[in-house]
Amino acid sequence: MSTLEYDAVVIGAGIAGLYQLYRLREKGYKVKVIEAGTDIGGTWYWNRYPGARVDSQSHVYQYWFSEELNNEWSWSERFPTQPEQERYLNFIVDRCDLRRDIQFETRVKSASYNEDSLRWIITTDTGETFSTQFLISCGGMLSAPVKPTYPGEEKFKGQMFHTARWPREGVNLAGKRVAVIGAGATGIQVIQTIASEVEKLTVFQRTPQYTIPMNNPKLTDADRNAFKKRFHELKEKVLGTYVGFDYDLDPRSWAELSSDEQQQALEEIWADGSLQFWVGSFFEMFVDEEVNKVISDFVRKKIRQRINDPEVARKLIPTEYGFGLHRVPLETNYYEAYNRDNVELICVKENPVEEVTESAIKTADGQVHEVDIIIFATGFDAATGALTRIDIRGRGGRSIKEEWSKEIRTTLGLQIHGYPNLFTTGAPLAPSAALCNMTTCLQQQVDWITACIEFLKSKEKSEIEASESKQDEWVAHHDEISKSTLLAKTNSWYMGSNVEGKPRRLLSYIGGVNTYHQHCRDIVENDYAGFDLR
Ligand code: NAP
Repeated sequence: MSTLEYDAVVIGAGIAGLYQLYRLREKGYKVKVIEAGTDIGGTWYWNRYPGARVDSQSHVYQYWFSEELNNEWSWSERFPTQPEQERYLNFIVDRCDLRRDIQFETRVKSASYNEDSLRWIITTDTGETFSTQFLISCGGMLSAPVKPTYPGEEKFKGQMFHTARWPREGVNLAGKRVAVIGAGATGIQVIQTIASEVEKLTVFQRTPQYTIPMNNPKLTDADRNAFKKRFHELKEKVLGTYVGFDYDLDPRSWAELSSDEQQQALEEIWADGSLQFWVGSFFEMFVDEEVNKVISDFVRKKIRQRINDPEVARKLIPTEYGFGLHRVPLETNYYEAYNRDNVELICVKENPVEEVTESAIKTADGQVHEVDIIIFATGFDAATGALTRIDIRGRGGRSIKEEWSKEIRTTLGLQIHGYPNLFTTGAPLAPSAALCNMTTCLQQQVDWITACIEFLKSKEKSEIEASESKQDEWVAHHDEISKSTLLAKTNSWYMGSNVEGKPRRLLSYIGGVNTYHQHCRDIVENDYAGFDLR
Protein backbone atom coordinates (compact mmCIF):
# COMPACT_ATOMS: atom_id res chain seq x y z
CA MET A 1 0.00 0.00 0.00
CA SER A 2 1.35 3.46 -0.82
CA THR A 3 2.06 6.04 1.87
CA LEU A 4 -0.54 8.78 2.23
CA GLU A 5 1.02 12.24 2.56
CA TYR A 6 -0.42 15.02 4.74
CA ASP A 7 0.62 18.29 6.34
CA ALA A 8 -1.11 17.26 9.54
CA VAL A 9 -2.61 14.08 10.90
CA VAL A 10 -5.00 14.51 13.81
CA ILE A 11 -5.79 11.57 16.07
CA GLY A 12 -9.43 11.56 17.19
CA ALA A 13 -12.66 13.15 15.95
CA GLY A 14 -13.91 14.48 19.26
CA ILE A 15 -14.30 18.08 20.37
CA ALA A 16 -10.59 18.90 19.96
CA GLY A 17 -9.96 16.89 16.78
CA LEU A 18 -12.93 18.34 14.93
CA TYR A 19 -11.93 21.87 15.80
CA GLN A 20 -8.29 21.19 14.87
CA LEU A 21 -9.42 19.96 11.47
CA TYR A 22 -11.59 23.03 10.98
CA ARG A 23 -8.77 25.44 11.93
CA LEU A 24 -6.00 23.83 9.88
CA ARG A 25 -8.16 23.31 6.82
CA GLU A 26 -9.21 26.96 7.03
CA LYS A 27 -5.49 27.88 6.80
CA GLY A 28 -5.03 25.70 3.72
CA TYR A 29 -3.28 22.67 5.20
CA LYS A 30 -3.92 19.14 3.96
CA VAL A 31 -5.28 17.36 7.03
CA LYS A 32 -6.53 13.88 7.83
CA VAL A 33 -8.32 12.95 11.05
CA ILE A 34 -7.99 9.30 12.05
CA GLU A 35 -10.79 8.05 14.28
CA ALA A 36 -11.22 4.59 15.81
CA GLY A 37 -15.01 4.90 16.14
CA THR A 38 -17.56 4.58 13.38
CA ASP A 39 -18.61 8.21 13.77
CA ILE A 40 -17.61 11.59 15.19
CA GLY A 41 -18.01 12.77 18.79
CA GLY A 42 -15.12 11.34 20.84
CA THR A 43 -16.28 11.21 24.46
CA TRP A 44 -19.83 11.87 23.29
CA TYR A 45 -19.64 9.02 20.81
CA TRP A 46 -18.16 6.37 23.11
CA ASN A 47 -19.92 7.20 26.39
CA ARG A 48 -23.52 6.48 25.43
CA TYR A 49 -24.40 4.56 28.59
CA PRO A 50 -27.81 5.11 30.23
CA GLY A 51 -27.98 8.52 31.88
CA ALA A 52 -24.86 9.95 30.21
CA ARG A 53 -25.06 13.70 30.48
CA VAL A 54 -22.63 16.61 30.40
CA ASP A 55 -22.18 18.47 33.65
CA SER A 56 -20.95 21.75 32.21
CA GLN A 57 -23.68 24.25 31.38
CA SER A 58 -24.60 24.09 27.71
CA HIS A 59 -24.11 27.81 27.13
CA VAL A 60 -20.39 27.42 27.87
CA TYR A 61 -19.85 23.86 26.65
CA GLN A 62 -19.70 24.60 22.94
CA TYR A 63 -17.62 25.95 20.09
CA TRP A 64 -16.88 29.64 19.83
CA PHE A 65 -15.59 29.95 16.27
CA SER A 66 -18.89 30.92 14.66
CA GLU A 67 -21.55 33.19 16.08
CA GLU A 68 -23.75 32.23 13.16
CA LEU A 69 -23.69 28.53 14.08
CA ASN A 70 -24.15 29.43 17.71
CA ASN A 71 -27.29 31.35 16.83
CA GLU A 72 -28.66 28.45 14.82
CA TRP A 73 -28.29 25.87 17.56
CA SER A 74 -30.74 25.67 20.47
CA TRP A 75 -29.86 23.77 23.64
CA SER A 76 -32.88 22.28 25.33
CA GLU A 77 -31.48 21.96 28.85
CA ARG A 78 -28.92 23.58 31.10
CA PHE A 79 -27.03 20.25 31.27
CA PRO A 80 -27.72 18.34 28.06
CA THR A 81 -27.85 14.59 27.59
CA GLN A 82 -25.29 12.63 25.60
CA PRO A 83 -27.66 12.28 22.60
CA GLU A 84 -28.12 16.05 22.47
CA GLN A 85 -24.34 16.65 22.71
CA GLU A 86 -23.79 14.15 19.94
CA ARG A 87 -26.43 15.85 17.77
CA TYR A 88 -24.74 19.21 18.35
CA LEU A 89 -21.33 17.89 17.28
CA ASN A 90 -22.91 16.31 14.19
CA PHE A 91 -24.58 19.64 13.39
CA ILE A 92 -21.17 21.36 13.49
CA VAL A 93 -19.53 18.63 11.42
CA ASP A 94 -22.25 18.72 8.78
CA ARG A 95 -22.41 22.49 8.57
CA CYS A 96 -18.62 22.75 8.23
CA ASP A 97 -18.39 19.74 5.93
CA LEU A 98 -15.73 18.15 8.14
CA ARG A 99 -16.61 14.50 7.56
CA ARG A 100 -14.83 14.25 4.20
CA ASP A 101 -11.44 14.56 5.91
CA ILE A 102 -12.10 12.00 8.64
CA GLN A 103 -11.19 8.35 8.27
CA PHE A 104 -13.33 6.22 10.60
CA GLU A 105 -12.84 2.72 12.03
CA THR A 106 -9.09 3.20 11.97
CA ARG A 107 -6.86 3.11 15.03
CA VAL A 108 -3.35 4.56 15.01
CA LYS A 109 -0.96 1.82 16.08
CA SER A 110 2.39 3.55 15.87
CA ALA A 111 3.97 6.89 15.04
CA SER A 112 7.68 7.37 14.61
CA TYR A 113 9.61 10.50 13.78
CA ASN A 114 12.03 10.36 10.88
CA GLU A 115 14.83 12.78 11.69
CA ASP A 116 16.03 12.93 8.08
CA SER A 117 12.74 13.71 6.37
CA LEU A 118 11.40 15.59 9.45
CA ARG A 119 8.14 13.70 9.12
CA TRP A 120 6.05 11.43 11.27
CA ILE A 121 5.37 7.99 9.85
CA ILE A 122 2.10 6.60 11.15
CA THR A 123 0.76 3.07 10.87
CA THR A 124 -2.80 1.99 11.54
CA ASP A 125 -4.68 -1.20 12.33
CA THR A 126 -6.10 -1.07 8.80
CA GLY A 127 -2.57 -1.63 7.44
CA GLU A 128 -2.19 1.89 6.04
CA THR A 129 0.82 4.17 6.37
CA PHE A 130 0.55 7.94 6.63
CA SER A 131 3.36 10.45 6.42
CA THR A 132 2.84 13.88 7.94
CA GLN A 133 4.82 16.91 9.03
CA PHE A 134 2.67 17.52 12.11
CA LEU A 135 1.07 14.92 14.34
CA ILE A 136 -1.63 16.25 16.65
CA SER A 137 -3.07 14.08 19.37
CA CYS A 138 -6.72 14.85 20.11
CA GLY A 139 -7.31 11.38 21.52
CA GLY A 140 -9.05 12.56 24.67
CA MET A 141 -8.06 12.80 28.33
CA LEU A 142 -10.54 10.10 29.34
CA SER A 143 -10.54 7.70 26.42
CA ALA A 144 -8.54 4.65 27.50
CA PRO A 145 -10.94 2.63 29.69
CA VAL A 146 -9.66 0.60 32.63
CA LYS A 147 -11.42 -2.53 33.77
CA PRO A 148 -10.60 -4.94 36.57
CA THR A 149 -10.55 -8.66 35.81
CA TYR A 150 -11.95 -11.22 38.21
CA PRO A 151 -11.21 -14.92 38.55
CA GLY A 152 -13.78 -16.90 36.57
CA GLU A 153 -14.94 -13.90 34.50
CA GLU A 154 -14.53 -15.82 31.25
CA LYS A 155 -17.20 -18.30 32.37
CA PHE A 156 -19.88 -15.61 32.81
CA LYS A 157 -22.83 -16.39 30.51
CA GLY A 158 -24.52 -13.01 30.81
CA GLN A 159 -23.47 -9.74 29.17
CA MET A 160 -20.59 -7.47 30.27
CA PHE A 161 -20.07 -3.87 29.20
CA HIS A 162 -17.70 -1.04 30.00
CA THR A 163 -19.62 2.25 30.04
CA ALA A 164 -17.09 3.79 27.64
CA ARG A 165 -17.76 1.04 25.09
CA TRP A 166 -21.54 1.06 25.29
CA PRO A 167 -23.18 -0.46 22.18
CA ARG A 168 -24.74 2.00 19.78
CA GLU A 169 -27.89 -0.10 19.53
CA GLY A 170 -28.34 0.13 23.32
CA VAL A 171 -28.82 -2.62 25.89
CA ASN A 172 -32.16 -3.81 27.20
CA LEU A 173 -31.92 -3.58 30.98
CA ALA A 174 -35.63 -3.72 31.77
CA GLY A 175 -36.46 -6.46 34.26
CA LYS A 176 -32.83 -7.66 34.40
CA ARG A 177 -30.56 -8.30 37.36
CA VAL A 178 -27.73 -5.83 36.86
CA ALA A 179 -24.42 -5.24 38.64
CA VAL A 180 -22.69 -1.87 38.38
CA ILE A 181 -19.02 -1.95 39.37
CA GLY A 182 -17.63 1.50 40.19
CA ALA A 183 -19.46 4.53 41.54
CA GLY A 184 -17.61 7.54 40.13
CA ALA A 185 -19.24 10.22 37.96
CA THR A 186 -20.20 7.62 35.36
CA GLY A 187 -21.43 4.95 37.76
CA ILE A 188 -23.56 7.55 39.53
CA GLN A 189 -25.26 8.55 36.27
CA VAL A 190 -25.91 4.91 35.39
CA ILE A 191 -27.18 3.93 38.85
CA GLN A 192 -29.62 6.84 39.25
CA THR A 193 -30.96 6.20 35.74
CA ILE A 194 -31.46 2.44 35.73
CA ALA A 195 -32.48 1.76 39.36
CA SER A 196 -36.19 2.03 38.63
CA GLU A 197 -35.97 0.05 35.39
CA VAL A 198 -34.11 -3.09 36.40
CA GLU A 199 -35.40 -5.94 38.52
CA LYS A 200 -32.39 -5.90 40.83
CA LEU A 201 -29.42 -3.56 40.95
CA THR A 202 -26.30 -4.47 42.89
CA VAL A 203 -23.69 -1.74 43.17
CA PHE A 204 -20.09 -2.68 43.90
CA GLN A 205 -18.52 0.49 45.24
CA ARG A 206 -14.86 0.97 46.17
CA THR A 207 -14.67 4.68 46.98
CA PRO A 208 -17.78 6.80 47.59
CA GLN A 209 -17.98 10.29 46.08
CA TYR A 210 -19.07 13.67 47.34
CA THR A 211 -21.67 14.92 44.89
CA ILE A 212 -23.74 18.03 44.18
CA PRO A 213 -27.43 17.84 43.17
CA MET A 214 -27.78 18.99 39.57
CA ASN A 215 -30.17 21.86 38.96
CA ASN A 216 -31.19 21.20 35.39
CA PRO A 217 -34.10 23.30 34.15
CA LYS A 218 -35.35 23.16 30.57
CA LEU A 219 -34.19 26.28 28.78
CA THR A 220 -36.75 28.73 27.42
CA ASP A 221 -36.39 30.87 24.29
CA ALA A 222 -35.72 33.80 26.60
CA ASP A 223 -32.84 31.90 28.28
CA ARG A 224 -31.35 30.89 24.96
CA ASN A 225 -31.62 34.39 23.49
CA ALA A 226 -30.02 35.89 26.56
CA PHE A 227 -27.02 33.55 26.19
CA LYS A 228 -26.80 34.17 22.45
CA LYS A 229 -26.64 37.90 23.02
CA ARG A 230 -23.66 37.31 25.32
CA PHE A 231 -21.74 35.25 22.73
CA HIS A 232 -18.66 37.51 22.53
CA GLU A 233 -18.59 38.24 26.23
CA LEU A 234 -18.84 34.56 27.19
CA LYS A 235 -16.25 33.51 24.62
CA GLU A 236 -13.74 35.86 26.27
CA LYS A 237 -14.84 35.29 29.79
CA VAL A 238 -14.36 31.52 29.94
CA LEU A 239 -10.66 31.91 29.15
CA GLY A 240 -10.15 34.27 32.06
CA THR A 241 -11.60 32.22 34.91
CA TYR A 242 -10.08 29.59 37.17
CA VAL A 243 -11.65 26.54 35.54
CA GLY A 244 -12.98 27.82 32.20
CA PHE A 245 -16.61 28.42 33.16
CA ASP A 246 -18.39 31.77 33.17
CA TYR A 247 -18.20 31.88 36.96
CA ASP A 248 -15.03 32.29 38.96
CA LEU A 249 -13.64 31.64 42.44
CA ASP A 250 -15.21 33.67 45.23
CA PRO A 251 -13.07 36.81 45.55
CA ARG A 252 -13.59 36.84 49.32
CA SER A 253 -11.18 34.96 51.49
CA TRP A 254 -12.77 32.23 53.63
CA ALA A 255 -11.13 33.62 56.76
CA GLU A 256 -12.73 37.04 56.41
CA LEU A 257 -16.21 35.50 56.78
CA SER A 258 -17.79 34.62 60.11
CA SER A 259 -18.85 31.03 60.59
CA ASP A 260 -22.50 32.00 59.87
CA GLU A 261 -21.46 33.86 56.73
CA GLN A 262 -19.45 30.86 55.56
CA GLN A 263 -22.46 28.57 55.95
CA GLN A 264 -24.69 31.10 54.21
CA ALA A 265 -22.22 31.42 51.33
CA LEU A 266 -22.11 27.63 50.99
CA GLU A 267 -25.92 27.38 51.00
CA GLU A 268 -26.16 30.02 48.28
CA ILE A 269 -23.75 28.33 45.87
CA TRP A 270 -25.13 24.90 46.71
CA ALA A 271 -28.51 26.11 45.45
CA ASP A 272 -27.01 26.81 42.02
CA GLY A 273 -26.80 23.04 41.48
CA SER A 274 -23.67 23.15 39.37
CA LEU A 275 -19.94 22.58 39.70
CA GLN A 276 -19.69 26.16 40.95
CA PHE A 277 -19.88 24.83 44.52
CA TRP A 278 -16.58 23.09 43.77
CA VAL A 279 -14.52 25.14 41.31
CA GLY A 280 -16.26 28.50 41.65
CA SER A 281 -16.26 28.96 45.40
CA PHE A 282 -13.42 29.08 47.93
CA PHE A 283 -9.92 28.20 46.72
CA GLU A 284 -8.94 27.48 50.32
CA MET A 285 -10.82 24.16 50.08
CA PHE A 286 -7.97 22.86 47.88
CA VAL A 287 -5.13 23.89 50.18
CA ASP A 288 -6.35 24.31 53.76
CA GLU A 289 -7.36 21.19 55.68
CA GLU A 290 -9.49 23.12 58.18
CA VAL A 291 -11.50 24.84 55.44
CA ASN A 292 -11.80 21.62 53.54
CA LYS A 293 -13.18 19.90 56.65
CA VAL A 294 -15.92 22.50 57.12
CA ILE A 295 -16.97 22.22 53.48
CA SER A 296 -16.77 18.41 53.54
CA ASP A 297 -18.97 18.31 56.66
CA PHE A 298 -21.47 20.60 54.94
CA VAL A 299 -21.74 18.21 51.99
CA ARG A 300 -21.81 15.08 54.16
CA LYS A 301 -24.79 16.51 56.04
CA LYS A 302 -26.61 17.18 52.77
CA ILE A 303 -26.03 13.60 51.64
CA ARG A 304 -27.00 12.02 54.96
CA GLN A 305 -30.42 13.73 54.92
CA ARG A 306 -31.42 11.81 51.81
CA ILE A 307 -30.58 8.23 52.77
CA ASN A 308 -33.07 6.19 54.84
CA ASP A 309 -30.81 3.42 56.12
CA PRO A 310 -27.97 4.61 58.40
CA GLU A 311 -25.77 1.68 57.37
CA VAL A 312 -26.20 2.55 53.69
CA ALA A 313 -25.49 6.20 54.55
CA ARG A 314 -22.28 5.15 56.30
CA LYS A 315 -21.13 3.42 53.13
CA LEU A 316 -22.11 6.23 50.77
CA ILE A 317 -20.62 9.15 52.68
CA PRO A 318 -16.91 9.69 52.03
CA THR A 319 -14.71 9.91 55.11
CA GLU A 320 -11.28 9.00 53.78
CA TYR A 321 -10.69 12.22 51.82
CA GLY A 322 -12.06 15.74 51.66
CA PHE A 323 -14.58 17.38 49.38
CA GLY A 324 -13.29 18.57 46.02
CA LEU A 325 -10.13 16.48 46.04
CA HIS A 326 -11.69 14.06 43.56
CA ARG A 327 -13.56 15.22 40.47
CA VAL A 328 -17.01 16.06 41.91
CA PRO A 329 -20.00 14.55 40.05
CA LEU A 330 -23.40 16.19 39.74
CA GLU A 331 -26.34 13.87 40.47
CA THR A 332 -30.12 13.64 40.26
CA ASN A 333 -31.94 11.34 42.72
CA TYR A 334 -28.76 9.28 43.16
CA TYR A 335 -29.14 8.68 46.89
CA GLU A 336 -32.87 8.01 46.54
CA ALA A 337 -31.93 5.03 44.34
CA TYR A 338 -30.46 3.37 47.45
CA ASN A 339 -33.76 3.85 49.32
CA ARG A 340 -35.39 1.43 46.86
CA ASP A 341 -35.93 -2.22 47.80
CA ASN A 342 -34.40 -3.49 44.55
CA VAL A 343 -31.01 -1.76 45.07
CA GLU A 344 -28.19 -3.23 47.15
CA LEU A 345 -24.85 -1.61 47.91
CA ILE A 346 -21.69 -3.66 48.43
CA CYS A 347 -18.52 -1.99 49.68
CA VAL A 348 -15.72 -3.92 48.03
CA LYS A 349 -13.12 -2.58 50.46
CA GLU A 350 -15.02 -4.34 53.26
CA ASN A 351 -16.32 -7.24 51.20
CA PRO A 352 -14.25 -7.81 48.04
CA VAL A 353 -15.39 -9.63 44.91
CA GLU A 354 -13.88 -13.12 45.01
CA GLU A 355 -14.96 -14.51 41.68
CA VAL A 356 -17.40 -14.33 38.82
CA THR A 357 -19.30 -17.52 38.03
CA GLU A 358 -21.51 -18.45 35.07
CA SER A 359 -24.37 -16.39 36.48
CA ALA A 360 -23.20 -14.49 39.54
CA ILE A 361 -20.66 -12.39 41.39
CA LYS A 362 -19.40 -14.00 44.60
CA THR A 363 -18.18 -11.79 47.44
CA ALA A 364 -15.84 -12.59 50.32
CA ASP A 365 -18.73 -12.86 52.81
CA GLY A 366 -19.91 -15.95 50.86
CA GLN A 367 -22.89 -14.22 49.24
CA VAL A 368 -23.73 -15.10 45.65
CA HIS A 369 -25.20 -12.16 43.72
CA GLU A 370 -27.05 -13.53 40.71
CA VAL A 371 -26.76 -11.16 37.74
CA ASP A 372 -27.67 -11.08 34.04
CA ILE A 373 -25.56 -8.04 33.13
CA ILE A 374 -22.35 -6.59 34.58
CA ILE A 375 -21.62 -2.93 33.88
CA PHE A 376 -18.08 -1.73 34.49
CA ALA A 377 -18.01 1.99 35.32
CA THR A 378 -14.42 1.69 36.45
CA GLY A 379 -12.89 4.73 34.80
CA PHE A 380 -9.93 5.52 32.59
CA ASP A 381 -6.17 5.69 32.30
CA ALA A 382 -6.57 9.46 32.32
CA ALA A 383 -4.53 11.97 30.34
CA THR A 384 -1.72 9.58 29.46
CA GLY A 385 -3.68 6.56 28.14
CA ALA A 386 -4.56 8.09 24.77
CA LEU A 387 -0.84 8.48 23.99
CA THR A 388 0.71 5.47 25.70
CA ARG A 389 -1.55 2.98 23.94
CA ILE A 390 0.13 4.12 20.68
CA ASP A 391 3.77 3.20 20.10
CA ILE A 392 5.08 6.76 19.69
CA ARG A 393 8.80 7.08 18.92
CA GLY A 394 10.55 10.43 18.87
CA ARG A 395 14.16 11.41 18.26
CA GLY A 396 16.58 8.48 18.56
CA GLY A 397 13.71 6.02 18.90
CA ARG A 398 12.71 7.27 22.37
CA SER A 399 9.26 6.11 23.45
CA ILE A 400 6.56 8.07 25.27
CA LYS A 401 5.23 4.89 26.82
CA GLU A 402 8.63 4.00 28.26
CA GLU A 403 9.39 7.53 29.42
CA TRP A 404 6.00 8.02 31.05
CA SER A 405 6.21 4.66 32.80
CA LYS A 406 8.98 6.33 34.83
CA GLU A 407 7.86 9.97 34.99
CA ILE A 408 5.08 11.91 33.28
CA ARG A 409 6.45 15.15 31.79
CA THR A 410 5.22 17.59 29.13
CA THR A 411 5.69 21.21 28.19
CA LEU A 412 2.37 22.86 29.09
CA GLY A 413 0.67 19.68 27.90
CA LEU A 414 1.23 20.95 24.36
CA GLN A 415 4.57 19.45 23.38
CA ILE A 416 6.96 16.84 24.73
CA HIS A 417 10.72 17.30 24.60
CA GLY A 418 12.23 14.70 22.28
CA TYR A 419 9.17 14.55 20.01
CA PRO A 420 9.41 17.37 17.44
CA ASN A 421 6.27 18.46 15.60
CA LEU A 422 4.09 16.38 17.91
CA PHE A 423 1.37 18.47 19.53
CA THR A 424 -0.97 17.24 22.24
CA THR A 425 -4.35 18.30 23.62
CA GLY A 426 -5.91 16.97 26.82
CA ALA A 427 -2.45 15.76 27.85
CA PRO A 428 -0.82 15.86 31.30
CA LEU A 429 0.32 19.08 32.97
CA ALA A 430 -2.31 21.32 31.37
CA PRO A 431 -5.76 22.19 32.79
CA SER A 432 -7.28 20.24 29.91
CA ALA A 433 -6.03 17.03 31.52
CA ALA A 434 -8.76 17.30 34.14
CA LEU A 435 -9.42 20.67 35.74
CA CYS A 436 -11.26 22.57 33.09
CA ASN A 437 -14.52 23.06 31.30
CA MET A 438 -13.26 20.93 28.46
CA THR A 439 -14.51 22.94 25.49
CA THR A 440 -12.75 26.05 26.81
CA CYS A 441 -9.40 24.36 27.25
CA LEU A 442 -9.44 22.23 24.14
CA GLN A 443 -10.26 25.16 21.87
CA GLN A 444 -7.58 27.27 23.52
CA GLN A 445 -5.00 24.52 22.94
CA VAL A 446 -6.06 23.97 19.33
CA ASP A 447 -5.81 27.72 18.68
CA TRP A 448 -2.31 27.74 20.20
CA ILE A 449 -1.20 24.76 18.09
CA THR A 450 -2.63 26.31 14.92
CA ALA A 451 -0.87 29.61 15.59
CA CYS A 452 2.38 27.74 16.28
CA ILE A 453 2.20 25.90 12.95
CA GLU A 454 1.49 29.20 11.20
CA PHE A 455 4.45 30.79 12.98
CA LEU A 456 6.78 28.03 11.75
CA LYS A 457 5.54 28.56 8.23
CA SER A 458 6.05 32.32 8.46
CA LYS A 459 9.65 31.75 9.59
CA GLU A 460 10.19 29.16 6.84
CA LYS A 461 11.09 26.53 9.44
CA SER A 462 10.10 22.88 9.35
CA GLU A 463 10.36 21.69 12.91
CA ILE A 464 9.55 22.83 16.42
CA GLU A 465 10.38 21.08 19.66
CA ALA A 466 10.13 22.10 23.30
CA SER A 467 13.64 22.34 24.69
CA GLU A 468 14.64 20.26 27.69
CA SER A 469 15.11 23.38 29.82
CA LYS A 470 11.67 24.74 28.88
CA GLN A 471 10.11 21.43 29.83
CA ASP A 472 12.05 21.30 33.12
CA GLU A 473 10.87 24.83 33.91
CA TRP A 474 7.22 23.94 33.27
CA VAL A 475 7.35 20.68 35.22
CA ALA A 476 8.93 22.52 38.17
CA HIS A 477 6.27 25.25 38.03
CA HIS A 478 3.50 22.62 37.82
CA ASP A 479 4.90 20.70 40.79
CA GLU A 480 5.42 23.84 42.83
CA ILE A 481 1.71 24.69 42.61
CA SER A 482 0.48 21.14 42.86
CA LYS A 483 2.47 20.26 45.97
CA SER A 484 0.76 23.01 47.96
CA THR A 485 -2.64 21.40 47.35
CA LEU A 486 -4.50 18.65 49.17
CA LEU A 487 -5.22 16.99 45.81
CA ALA A 488 -1.59 15.94 45.56
CA LYS A 489 -1.98 14.09 48.87
CA THR A 490 -5.18 12.27 47.85
CA ASN A 491 -5.55 9.08 45.85
CA SER A 492 -7.69 9.51 42.74
CA TRP A 493 -7.41 9.35 38.99
CA TYR A 494 -6.18 12.96 39.19
CA MET A 495 -2.97 11.53 40.69
CA GLY A 496 -2.93 8.46 38.48
CA SER A 497 -3.51 6.21 41.47
CA ASN A 498 -6.37 4.28 39.82
CA VAL A 499 -3.89 2.65 37.43
CA GLU A 500 -1.38 0.24 38.93
CA GLY A 501 2.21 1.33 38.44
CA LYS A 502 1.34 4.76 36.99
CA PRO A 503 3.88 7.31 38.21
CA ARG A 504 2.36 9.72 40.69
CA ARG A 505 2.00 13.34 39.62
CA LEU A 506 -1.04 15.62 39.57
CA LEU A 507 -2.12 15.11 35.97
CA SER A 508 -3.81 18.46 35.60
CA TYR A 509 -2.22 21.88 35.94
CA ILE A 510 -3.97 23.48 38.93
CA GLY A 511 -2.70 27.05 38.61
CA GLY A 512 -5.91 28.03 36.78
CA VAL A 513 -7.12 28.19 33.21
CA ASN A 514 -6.57 31.95 33.24
CA THR A 515 -2.94 31.61 34.38
CA TYR A 516 -2.27 28.77 31.96
CA HIS A 517 -3.69 30.81 29.11
CA GLN A 518 -1.34 33.66 30.05
CA HIS A 519 1.66 31.29 30.00
CA CYS A 520 0.63 30.13 26.51
CA ARG A 521 0.25 33.74 25.34
CA ASP A 522 3.66 34.66 26.76
CA ILE A 523 5.29 31.96 24.64
CA VAL A 524 3.72 33.39 21.50
CA GLU A 525 4.59 36.96 22.45
CA ASN A 526 8.21 35.90 23.04
CA ASP A 527 8.47 34.26 19.61
CA TYR A 528 8.39 30.75 21.07
CA ALA A 529 11.44 31.24 23.28
CA GLY A 530 12.28 27.89 24.89
CA PHE A 531 11.29 26.00 21.77
CA ASP A 532 13.90 24.91 19.23
CA LEU A 533 13.12 25.74 15.61
CA ARG A 534 14.89 24.05 12.75
P1 NAP B 1 -13.83 7.30 37.87
O1 NAP B 1 -14.19 8.63 38.37
O2 NAP B 1 -12.41 6.90 37.84
O3 NAP B 1 -14.68 6.28 38.70
C1 NAP B 1 -14.46 4.91 38.60
C2 NAP B 1 -14.89 4.29 39.88
O4 NAP B 1 -14.72 2.89 39.77
C3 NAP B 1 -14.05 4.76 41.06
O5 NAP B 1 -14.88 5.08 42.13
C4 NAP B 1 -13.19 3.53 41.33
O6 NAP B 1 -12.84 3.42 42.68
C5 NAP B 1 -14.12 2.45 40.95
N1 NAP B 1 -13.46 1.18 40.69
C6 NAP B 1 -12.37 0.94 39.94
N2 NAP B 1 -12.07 -0.36 39.99
C7 NAP B 1 -12.98 -0.94 40.80
C8 NAP B 1 -13.19 -2.24 41.27
N3 NAP B 1 -12.37 -3.23 40.92
N4 NAP B 1 -14.24 -2.47 42.09
C9 NAP B 1 -15.06 -1.48 42.47
N5 NAP B 1 -14.88 -0.22 42.07
C10 NAP B 1 -13.86 0.04 41.25
O7 NAP B 1 -14.39 7.06 36.38
P2 NAP B 1 -15.73 7.63 35.76
O8 NAP B 1 -16.84 7.52 36.72
O9 NAP B 1 -15.88 7.00 34.43
O10 NAP B 1 -15.44 9.14 35.59
C11 NAP B 1 -14.20 9.59 35.05
C12 NAP B 1 -14.30 11.04 34.75
O11 NAP B 1 -15.07 11.21 33.56
C13 NAP B 1 -15.02 11.86 35.78
O12 NAP B 1 -14.26 12.13 36.91
C14 NAP B 1 -15.36 13.07 34.96
O13 NAP B 1 -14.25 13.91 34.81
C15 NAP B 1 -15.70 12.46 33.62
N6 NAP B 1 -17.15 12.26 33.51
C16 NAP B 1 -17.88 13.36 33.22
C17 NAP B 1 -19.23 13.25 33.14
C18 NAP B 1 -20.02 14.46 32.82
O14 NAP B 1 -19.56 15.47 32.38
N7 NAP B 1 -21.26 14.41 33.04
C19 NAP B 1 -19.86 12.04 33.37
C20 NAP B 1 -19.09 10.93 33.65
C21 NAP B 1 -17.72 11.05 33.71
P3 NAP B 1 -11.51 4.14 43.25
O15 NAP B 1 -11.87 5.58 43.36
O16 NAP B 1 -11.28 3.47 44.54
O17 NAP B 1 -10.40 3.89 42.25
